[in-house]
Amino acid sequence: MTTLSKIAKNIIIFGAPGGGKGTICNKLVKDFQFTHISTGNLLRNQVAKNTALGTQVKSFLAEGLLVPDQIVVDIIKSEINQKDSHLFDGFPRTIEQASILIQALKIDAVISLEIPFEVIIERLSNRWIHIPSGRTYAYDYNPPIKHGLDDITGEALIQREDDNPISIKRRLEEYEKVTSPVLNFFSQQQNIKFSNFKGSESNVIYKNLKPFLVEHVLNI
Ligand code: ADP
Repeated sequence: MTTLSKIAKNIIIFGAPGGGKGTICNKLVKDFQFTHISTGNLLRNQVAKNTALGTQVKSFLAEGLLVPDQIVVDIIKSEINQKDSHLFDGFPRTIEQASILIQALKIDAVISLEIPFEVIIERLSNRWIHIPSGRTYAYDYNPPIKHGLDDITGEALIQREDDNPISIKRRLEEYEKVTSPVLNFFSQQQNIKFSNFKGSESNVIYKNLKPFLVEHVLNI
């Protein structure tokens, strides 16, 4: 693992649902010392543990609707630490969330992943997940070692409740309508590096993304 400089770097991994944000973040966490913050994983864990917050957000997640900004912003504020380098995955998803984030933390780069929608739909319908860690598998191109079980913990894999055709459609609509304008917001911010990576395979994208980050953002 490469050590990052003492100055914290904060990067947003942006893209549509099922676009491989989590996969790219997992690769970056293996190669560098980032704290990975996935609002989706944090929210799903609350639902799985049946907390008061989990009860409040459960139906938004199941239906593929965005959770209200205030709830998500409160979660983020409790997770960030000015001294750490963060990777944001699935946050911000609205202009309001983006404005609050740039006031709370210096953001160094926004990396946008552009994946064809037909690839996304196919991927989401075949995705299996280990809820506590957020690790994902697919039986065709990324199968677990043992059928139905997480490689690391041996715990059960499940299909996400929102990976069904109706919720997938709703999530993609929310992305188009509410979330994609956030890219424009960031491209207008000075001092934030902005880059777009296109493709349908996370492994291939990562081969280009990693050197870009090393050279232009992490300066190592
Ligand atoms: P995906 O990118 O596959 O849709 P996520 O795990 O990022 O999955 O998010 C799952 C769900 O959690 C979203 O559909 C939404 O209901 C909720 N969610 C996650 N992040 C946010 C956010 N930043 N703002 C509002 N809702 C969110």
